[in-house]
Amino acid sequence: MSLNAGVIAVQGDVSEHADAIRRAGTAHGESVAVTEIRQSGIVPDCDLLCMPGGESTAISRLLQSEGIAPEIQAHVEAGKPVLATCAGLIVAATDADDERVDNLGLLDVTVERNAFGRQKDSFEAPLDVTGLDEPYPAVFIRAPLISDVGSATVLAEWDGRPVAVQDGPVVGTSFHPELTPDSRIHGLAFFADE
Ligand code: GLN
Repeated sequence: MSLNAGVIAVQGDVSEHADAIRRAGTAHGESVAVTEIRQSGIVPDCDLLCMPGGESTAISRLLQSEGIAPEIQAHVEAGKPVLATCAGLIVAATDADDERVDNLGLLDVTVERNAFGRQKDSFEAPLDVTGLDEPYPAVFIRAPLISDVGSATVLAEWDGRPVAVQDGPVVGTSFHPELTPDSRIHGLAFFADE
């Protein structure tokens, strides 16, 4: 059976996530068809969803104006998996303390935009992630700080701060798991054994 994966493609890193989902599917013996989502009506047919990084204010505005936002909320209410990364995590969170971001409340965390500094402060760090045997090389670019973890579970920390969290079917990362050849975070979010 082939799984339908959707990558929210209104703005941000789209093709890198599509590739990572295919690689993770192959690693877990799953065949996956990936669709880029720019309009409503596609999310309801998706088994799993990825919300990429980019610019959270733009992503948020377009998800609302295109009518995709309530479809993503219904996907999570149905218990289907979502991986939300960087700006995707900001939009998926309960609160980002920024009125330009219409938070979807998919996972119970509060985030602070750009708390790890500017573009020039981007860095890569090896992370110990719950569920992965070896450290994961995480790339941080204008990453959000997860300032309050509510009922979510912390999967990884950097410098004592949570940078990967899980709340039910939703995994959120401050970093960009699509920017390295290592697709284990996508595997964890979408194909981990029950
Ligand atoms: N700083 C961006 C924002 O607040 C997120 C950066 C990213 O996704 N790399 O939307």
